[in-house]
Amino acid sequence: MTFSDLLRVAPGSTPDLAGTDAAATPGFVGDKDAARARLKELKKELAEFQEKLWAEQGQSLLIVLQALDAGGKDGLIRKVATAFNPQGTRVTGFGVPTDEELRHDFLWRVHAATPGKGRIGVFNRSHYEDVLVVRVLELVPESVWQERYDQINAFESILAANRTRIVKFYLHVSRDEQRERFQKRLDNPEKHWKWSSGDLETRARWDDFRAAYTDALARCSTDHAPWFVIPADRKWYRDLAVAEILAETARDMDPHWPEVEEDLSGIVIPD
Ligand code: AMP
Ligand code: MG
Repeated sequence: MTFSDLLRVAPGSTPDLAGTDAAATPGFVGDKDAARARLKELKKELAEFQEKLWAEQGQSLLIVLQALDAGGKDGLIRKVATAFNPQGTRVTGFGVPTDEELRHDFLWRVHAATPGKGRIGVFNRSHYEDVLVVRVLELVPESVWQERYDQINAFESILAANRTRIVKFYLHVSRDEQRERFQKRLDNPEKHWKWSSGDLETRARWDDFRAAYTDALARCSTDHAPWFVIPADRKWYRDLAVAEILAETARDMDPHWPEVEEDLSGIVIPD
């Protein structure tokens, strides 16, 4: 079984997040060192893929990352997304919307950040916040966020129809692991910048967030834009599993070197 098959939320199914062990390592037998060695190989493959994707100028790749606070999105970007040449890759973080963003529909700022042909986009948080934090903190009425699942599916199908491959990763950490990571941040002055007073508030709403994640993953995992649940308590497994799925996706996208019209075979560069 591929990592994609093992970790994908099957379209139409509801993931059991409470029953998913965040410290599990499905699909991998080996230790941390073996995983790191494999990651190195995968990053090489991903770098080669990106060069072809860029040269081909026909398809795009959109990687969506969602997690609770301290779920490891930043670490994952540092460890895995660095496989890609920064020329051709854009990481976009989505925070609390600005006044101008709030004057538009929730997909406005997201659509503007989608990758063009030949490019890779990484979303650090995404339009899913509009059915996650927005739902849990009741920032809009239920009648508004309930409509958004269908709107998200329609939006993603437009991107897919325009040859944007979409893969969405939910980094699943346990409550204990989050507590440890938060505590580490608080104990280290160099990590205080990462701390936000809202973090405790969202931790206190753990069950509500889990319910909101469950609905988002159940309602918006589609054939053209699947969700993957990545057990993320072990950072080495998290990085490996995401890299494996990206490599499987890359092989399936299979970009080709563009045809060159001229015959270059006889050309010798003069002194
Ligand atoms: P961070 O990822 O730590 O920089 O935090 C970004 C913050 O922005 C998080 O607390 C998110 O929940 C919040 N955020 C992102 N998108 C939205 C949104 N659409 N509405 C309200 N808050 C959001
Ligand atoms: Mg934060």
